[in-house]
Amino acid sequence: MDPRAQQLLAARLQYYRDLGIYDFYRRDVANNVSAEQSVLQPANVAVSTAVAAAEDMFAPPKPEAAIADHAKALRLIQEELGECTRCVLSRLGRKTIVFGEGDPDAELMFVGEGPGADEDEQARPFVGRAGQLLNKMIEAMGLKREQVYIANVVKCRPPGNRTPEREETETCSPFLLRQIAVIHPKAIVALGAVAARCLLGLNEPMARLRGRWFDFRGTRLAVTYHPAFLLRDPRQKKETWKDLQMVMGCLGLKPRRPAESV
Ligand code: URA
Repeated sequence: MDPRAQQLLAARLQYYRDLGIYDFYRRDVANNVSAEQSVLQPANVAVSTAVAAAEDMFAPPKPEAAIADHAKALRLIQEELGECTRCVLSRLGRKTIVFGEGDPDAELMFVGEGPGADEDEQARPFVGRAGQLLNKMIEAMGLKREQVYIANVVKCRPPGNRTPEREETETCSPFLLRQIAVIHPKAIVALGAVAARCLLGLNEPMARLRGRWFDFRGTRLAVTYHPAFLLRDPRQKKETWKDLQMVMGCLGLKPRRPAESV
């Protein structure tokens, strides 16, 4: 375990000891989870979750934490984000900040990489070609776009649609994490390896990430191919549909239309 994680965990354990709590138990996977849906937690995910929990514990309370109305809480986060200049993306040609959109009480949340040109124009996530495919994926799952929440790892368009750099994701993602905490979905779908890396702290190829559940701070997280990748390699739509069916199982959804039409 890395020294920072060790330090945070030690502080957390000390806190519990101060409260008179000495024994800790590992919780098994929830009973209502079938074998194929089981939440798989590689050791480093467990550590990153523990670190996140410890960090949360020592972080100052977020203003939205006291607000029960999710829409209001999200507005508060957006206000704090403001006309953000926290990272270089604000100086590299972005026109708008793409905060995220959808149902503030959504059971399902999609997380992409970062806005492209169309999103930057409209200040809305996934409105270009990849967005149209995402809409079809959502509809095939038996949902409407307005029923889910869609956001990105970074809220400003990287120049030339390049992959966001580490410093950019580290600066921006705390706002995404706060959005997730407010919405508190039943399931999150990370679209592509960049979103998976940001949320899970895992630098694994897609083949090892998709088709299974991860735990993200107590919420189930699935990884699937980014729609922009599917536009380049439509053969992978079949695999994506399998991932989405796993998610539908968790949400009790029935497909609205045949997956072949996606
Ligand atoms: N690709 C993304 O990752 N996000 C968007 O909003 C659009 C395209």
